[in-house]
Amino acid sequence: MSLIVQKFGGTSVADTKKILAAARKAIRETKEGNQVVMVVSAMGKNTDHLIDLAKEISDRPNSREMDMLLSTGEQVTVALMAIALQSLGHEAVSFTGAQIGIKTDNTYSKARIRSISTERMRKALDEGKIVIAAGFQGIDDDFNITTLGRGGSDTTAVALAAVLKADSCDIFTDVDGVYTTDPRIVPEARKVDKISYDEMLELASLGAGVMHSRSIEFAKKFNVPVHVRSSFSDTPGTIIGAEPENNEAPVCGAALAKEEARITVIGVPDKPGVAMNLFSRIAEAKIPTDMIVQNVSDQGITDISFVIPSDDLAATLKIVESTVQEIGAEGFESDNNVAKVSVVGLGMEKQPGVAQKMFHALAEKKINIHMISTSEIKISALVDRDKGIEALRAIHEAFQLQQAFVSTTVDSAITQTESASAVRSALSNEFVSRLTGMEEILIEKVSIDQSQARITLTDLPDRPGLAAEVFDQIAGGRVIVDMIVQSVGRQGLASISFTIQRNELDSVLDITEKLNRAYQCKTFSNPTVTKLTVHGTGLRSHTGLAYRMFKTLSDGGINVSIICTSERCINVVIDDSVGKTGFSLLSNEFVDEMI
Ligand code: ADP
Ligand code: ASP
Ligand code: MG
Repeated sequence: MSLIVQKFGGTSVADTKKILAAARKAIRETKEGNQVVMVVSAMGKNTDHLIDLAKEISDRPNSREMDMLLSTGEQVTVALMAIALQSLGHEAVSFTGAQIGIKTDNTYSKARIRSISTERMRKALDEGKIVIAAGFQGIDDDFNITTLGRGGSDTTAVALAAVLKADSCDIFTDVDGVYTTDPRIVPEARKVDKISYDEMLELASLGAGVMHSRSIEFAKKFNVPVHVRSSFSDTPGTIIGAEPENNEAPVCGAALAKEEARITVIGVPDKPGVAMNLFSRIAEAKIPTDMIVQNVSDQGITDISFVIPSDDLAATLKIVESTVQEIGAEGFESDNNVAKVSVVGLGMEKQPGVAQKMFHALAEKKINIHMISTSEIKISALVDRDKGIEALRAIHEAFQLQQAFVSTTVDSAITQTESASAVRSALSNEFVSRLTGMEEILIEKVSIDQSQARITLTDLPDRPGLAAEVFDQIAGGRVIVDMIVQSVGRQGLASISFTIQRNELDSVLDITEKLNRAYQCKTFSNPTVTKLTVHGTGLRSHTGLAYRMFKTLSDGGINVSIICTSERCINVVIDDSVGKTGFSLLSNEFVDEMI
C-alpha cells in the first residue's frame, strides 16, 4: 500500500464544487489501495481578504494576531473537505497544524518548521480515514499559532510527505505543471516534464510563484518526488526530482520578482566587519537580502547596495536608519520601484556567454540594468518595475525557452545520471537524521579556488546596453567570465566587477584599456584573488548564512570584495594573501553542520 500526499491550492478549493472535486480525487486514490493525506489552502483569495480586513483596521497589525487570523482560512477548508469526503461516503478527519503537531519557531508570518509528529496522522490513516491537514500553519513552543509565509501550504505538503516517507507528493494547482516561466506572463512558455531540485529551488526563490521555495528545500533534503499537476485535468504534470530535464541546457527557466526594493548605503568605511553589523540585524529580522554588491572603495570608503522584497522595505529601512551612524556611513537611499529578472540553469556553469546573451536581450529593448549579480546557476538583473514583464519576455525569447534544448554531445546521458546519483548520495539519511530542526540549513562543503583575478571598471555611464557592450568586448576576446556584479554608485555612475582566470588577465587589461578610453571609465584589478564558496541548500533564504560568512571572515580581519549568493552556494572573493586563512576560518565555522 502506497502513501500519497495531495495538496490543493487556493483556486483548486475556491468553492464547494471544487472542494467536492478534490475530495473525489482523494477517494479515487484510496480505491486504488493507497492511503491519502490531503493538505489544503484557504479557499480562493481568502487569505488576501483576511489581510485586507486587518488593514482596514490598522496599517501595521500585530504579527501574532495576523497569524491567528490568517490560519483561519485553512481551517475553513479542512473542515469543508472532511464534510465533503464524508458526504461522499468516505471516512475522513481534519486537523489544524497544531493538532497534527507541526512545531515551528516563533517567527510570526515566516515561521520555520522544527518538527512534525506523525502519530496522530498514522493512527487515523490506519483506521482507514483520509487525513486532511491545514496547510501553511503550525504552533510554537508557547502554543501560539504561526504561519509559514505566503504560499506556505506547499511547504506543509512536502514536509508531511517527508516525515511520512510518502511515495509521492502531488501538488494540484491551476497550471498543469512547471513552465519555463510564468505562462500567464509569457504565453509561449513551455511546460517541462521534469526539473531538478536545485533549479526549481532557485527559480522559486527568484519569483516563480508556482512553488513555495522552502518546499523544495524539504524535497531535496528528504528526497521527496514532487509532481506538480493540474487540479482540473488528468494530464501528467512536472516531476521535481534529482534529475534535470537536460543537464547541458544553459538555461532551464526564467523568473520575475516584481515587487523588489533596492537600498544603497552610501559612504561606508571599507573595513572588515563594518557591513556585518548591518547585515546581522537584517538577518535577525529574517529579511532575505539578495544581490549584495559593494562598489570598489575610493579612498577607503565604499557604497553597498542590496535588494529585498518590497514588503520588507519599511522594516529594513528602520534597521538601516539606526545602523548608518553606528557604522560611520554617510547616508542611504532606496528605490521601491524595481523588479528582478533572472535566468536559472545547471548547464550555465560550463557555457560561456550566457550572461552576455541576457544583457543583450535587455539592451535590445533599451531596458536599463541597475544591478547585476551572477552565481554558478543563475544570473539576476535589476530593472525598473514597469519594465519587468518586457524584460522577462525578452530573455525568454533570447534563450528560446519555448523550445526544448537539444544536446550537442553524445555523452550527456551519462553526465545526467552521474549528477543525479551524486545528489542522492550527498543527502544521506544518516546526515538528515542529525538535523535538530527539519528546516535547519544544509551545508555540503566549503571550497577554495585560487585561479582567478578580479577586474573592476568604475565610473561607467549608467545607461541601457552598457553591460552588453562591456561583455561583448571581453567575451569577444574569448575570455570566460565567472562572477559578475554591477551596481550604480554615488554620482549615478555604474561599476562592474568580474573575475576571470589569472592567465587571461593581460589580454583582458588590453581590452579594458580600450574601454577606459571609450567610456572615460577607470579599471582596477587584483591579479590574484581567492574565491571561497560555501555549498548547500537554501543558503539565501536562510537569512543568517551570508552574515555568518561575513562575520567569520571579518573576525579574522579579512575584507570581502565581491559576494554572490544563490540558494545552492554563496561565493565571496577575498585577497589571495589571506585566501588560505579565509578557507580554514570558514571550514571551521561550518564543520559541525557539514555532511
Ligand atoms: P496555488 O494556489 O495552487 O498554490 P499559485 O497561484 O500559488 O497556486 O501557483 C500557481 C501559479 O503560479 C500559476 O497560475 C502561474 O501563474 C504561476 N507561475 C509562476 N511561475 C510559474 C512557472 N514557472 N510555471 C508555472 N506556473 C508559474
Ligand atoms: N493561504 C496561504 C496563502 O495564500 C498559503 C497557501 O495558499 O499556500 O498564501
Ligand atoms: Mg501556491
